[in-house]
Parts: sequence; C-alpha cells; structure tokens
Amino acid sequence: MSSLLLTGIAQLVTNDPSHGDGSELGVLDDAALVMQGGRVVWVGGVAQAPSADAAYDVGGRAVVPGFVDSHSHLLFAGDRSAEFAARMAGTPYSAGGIATTVAATRAASDENLAANLARHAAEMRSQGTTTFETKSGYGLSVADEARCLAIARQATEETTFLGGHVVPSEYAHDPNGYVELVTGPMLAACAPHAKWIDVFCERGAFDEDQSRTILEAGKAEGLGLRVHANQLGPGPGVRLACDLGAAAVDHCTYLAGGDVDALADSGTTATLLPGVEFSTRSPYPDARRLLDAGCEVALATDCNPGSSYTSSMPLCIALAVREMSMTPAEALLAATRGGARSLRREEIGHLGPGALAHVVVLEAPSYVHLAYRPGVPLVHRVLGGGAEPV
Ligand SMILES: [Zn+2]
Repeated sequence: MSSLLLTGIAQLVTNDPSHGDGSELGVLDDAALVMQGGRVVWVGGVAQAPSADAAYDVGGRAVVPGFVDSHSHLLFAGDRSAEFAARMAGTPYSAGGIATTVAATRAASDENLAANLARHAAEMRSQGTTTFETKSGYGLSVADEARCLAIARQATEETTFLGGHVVPSEYAHDPNGYVELVTGPMLAACAPHAKWIDVFCERGAFDEDQSRTILEAGKAEGLGLRVHANQLGPGPGVRLACDLGAAAVDHCTYLAGGDVDALADSGTTATLLPGVEFSTRSPYPDARRLLDAGCEVALATDCNPGSSYTSSMPLCIALAVREMSMTPAEALLAATRGGARSLRREEIGHLGPGALAHVVVLEAPSYVHLAYRPGVPLVHRVLGGGAEPV
C-alpha cells in the first residue's frame, strides 16, 4: 500500500480537538497529512512530516473533511420547476406536491432512475460531499419502493426506506391500510436494501401513532431510525424520535421548549435543512437555541425536487451562517462531524489518524470562505469517497 503526503496545506481542519489550536475543529496551520490504504495515518506540522511514497503540494489551500450529506431524496423522476415558480408567485408549500413526483417515479425505468441518481451524486461530489444518505419515498408501492432502494444501494451504503413519506392517492380513504402495507409487505421487500427507516411525522402526512407504528416495525427488522418532523408546524415528531432512540430527527423548524430539552438529553442528532427554508421562503430553524442547549446539530441538503432542489453543502453552510446565526466553525462542524454522527459513523466527518481519507481541498486559504463567499465554486479537488481514489 503506497502512501501519499499532502503538503502546502495553509489550514487543515481535522475536527479532532487533540490536534492544532485545541478548538473542536482541531485546526492546524502550515500542515501536512499522510494517507495510506484509504485512511489518514498522520497529521501535523509540515516541518515534522514523515516521508511517503508520493507527495502532493496543495499550494497554500485549505483542506477540510469531506462533507457528510445525511439527508437527501435522489430516487425520483420528473420536474417540478413549474410548482417552484408558482410558489415564488405566492402559492404556499404543502406536502401534497410529492404526489407529482410519485407519478413520474412510478412511470420511470430503472435505468432512468439510476441515471438521475448518478447525476445528482456527481453534483454532490463535485461540491465536496464524500458521503451521502438517500431515501426512497417516491415509489409508495411495494415494487417501486423496493426497486428504488435496490438502485440506491448501488450508489451508497446509507439507504433509507421512506415508504412513510405521504399516503398515496389510492389509499387516501384508508390511511391505516397504507400503514399496514408499509409495515408489512413493503418493509419486508425494502429492508434487505436499507440501513434506515424514516417517516414524515407531520400534519398532511403521518400522525404520531402511525409514525410510531412505522418506526417500531422498522426497528424490529433491524433498521436504524430517522424521522422527518416539525417542518411545517409544531408537532410530536421530535419527542417521538428521541423516545425511540432515533439517530436523527430532521427539519426541527418549529420547536417547543420540551423538544429542545428532549434533544439535549438524547443521542438523537437534530438535522437542520436550510435549503428547504431558502427554497420555500419559510422561517429558518433556531440553530442557536439547539447549539446553546448542547444538542448535536447536523446540516444537510434535503436535496429533492419539491422543497429543496440543491445538492450543495457549501450553500447550506453559507445559509446556516448568514440566516441561522451559526458561526462558520459551527456550520462546518455540523456539515461534517454532525452528519457523520447522525449516520452513526465514526470513521468519517474528521481527518484525524484512522479516519477514512475523505479530503476536500478548497480553492481558498481558509474554511471560512465557505460562508464568506456564498455561491462561488470553492472545491478545488476531492480525494476519496467515490471521487478520486486514494
Ligand atoms: Zn426530506
């Protein structure tokens, strides 16, 4: 196994407080990094760097861990730009628009769905994402959910069964019958292709009892739990996620005091998805309240054709800083370590020795530029995580 030495790193973010300046980001200036066998094996000052089989001088750029996008919906077909335009002209967003994508997804071939997924995954990688989670949820039949997850598994190990996205129109008069389908034959067909189960616990989607039934059925099949909750209004989803030991509860836009306390006392990560609020002109979640209470916070894109059609983690970092009062350091940590923790992954989201060598070289001397220069393509090169092999 040959080793590679990266030199000329103006600023290295390790996310390992035992390195560098002692902050949570573990920032080293004038740094070097050695990788071997796909792992980081050494970080430190460039003057102390050991020799390696090959060297790459990054030329005074900053290096950060690859972004971990822990929430996306990339198994879909069709286009909803007209709906977006209508929303920008004043029509409010509701969960019902998902039905448009369900019809297009059911009509699409496997090849079409796989090509669409590959295109979005490539977009993500080019913007520094080295790990992404993605969900079913636009099939909503046993066969369509299962084929979406089988396709997703080809692209990422972080696959989530979201049969509980909305009740499809054919079950509109029998929502509990649909919950029985989701927790019975659909779960049986999907579990072999999924690591996680998720449910949209929201008015217009699934209520608390239905959501609990779906999550407990998934847990019994060995799936980890994730929840969409408190996006469009206050509700029981955050506390349900914490009660059931979910790895993540995502959106968290409308929180009561009890929700914040429950999150702070749990091992559940609050995933904030500012691309949604940006794209739907909605109020942003109160990130400061969560951070100040000691909650684990992640940032993700929620890339989907309805409410947040961006694949850009740098955009989410910029929005978190400029619209949600997070510091650039907090936003980067949430986009890397936060996502990793929400996926229960120890070996990603940081660049300390032992981590997977998922390395992003920025076209900037400091990570702060991710928020300071919104909309600018700042990713110079991506190593590992399905990009260039290391
Ligand atoms: Zn989502």
